[in-house]
Amino acid sequence: MTMKIRANFHSLFPNVFHIKKIKDSEQNLLFHLESTSTDAICPYCGTASNTIHGKRYRKNISDLPFLDKPVILNITLNEYTCPKCSKNYIENPDSFLLERKSISARCEKYLSELKYSLNGSICDTLKFANYAHIPLNRGVIRYIPIKDIDITDSDKLWIQDFVRNKYPDAQTAPKGKIPSPLAEKIVREIHLNCEKSLHPNLVTLSVYELNCVISQDK
Ligand SMILES: [Zn+2]
Repeated sequence: MTMKIRANFHSLFPNVFHIKKIKDSEQNLLFHLESTSTDAICPYCGTASNTIHGKRYRKNISDLPFLDKPVILNITLNEYTCPKCSKNYIENPDSFLLERKSISARCEKYLSELKYSLNGSICDTLKFANYAHIPLNRGVIRYIPIKDIDITDSDKLWIQDFVRNKYPDAQTAPKGKIPSPLAEKIVREIHLNCEKSLHPNLVTLSVYELNCVISQDK
């Protein structure tokens, strides 16, 4: 099947990315991108460098789909050497990529919002991502909280179960207010456990929110 696509794809990516090639197959649209940057800020000390030390290749990055097609990116990036702290670092124009994840930051943001709208269900998120032509596996879904949203019902249930099982004393606290040393301890425990258990919006849970969720459980 051949399909001619005419679109200004360049504007969809960070400015410094040059599109070397687009391969349109039945399964996906594969973009070969190459950075044309001439400087980048050192992530360690904040100094700008224009000394390119080498190239780095990242491939099979999932991005947002284009019409009905999954979009995959292969990107050649520049590696810079910092003039101040002498460290080498790979650039990340417009914070487009995520460290150690084969998914673009914007695609992951979309999935986070999707996951939130599906009440935190990882299973439904994967299903919808599949309908939406975003190829991904369980491991890539975001663990970072979305700002300014409430705790989802599934996350509330998770907190309530967590406290019920590990801190039964907190359940019986008078007037629904857990004594603050205990509440702080529970919040710390929740922060340590929530990412593993795929409850990203609890990363910033406060003592106040904990008390609210627990008093709802009564
Ligand atoms: Zn530096």
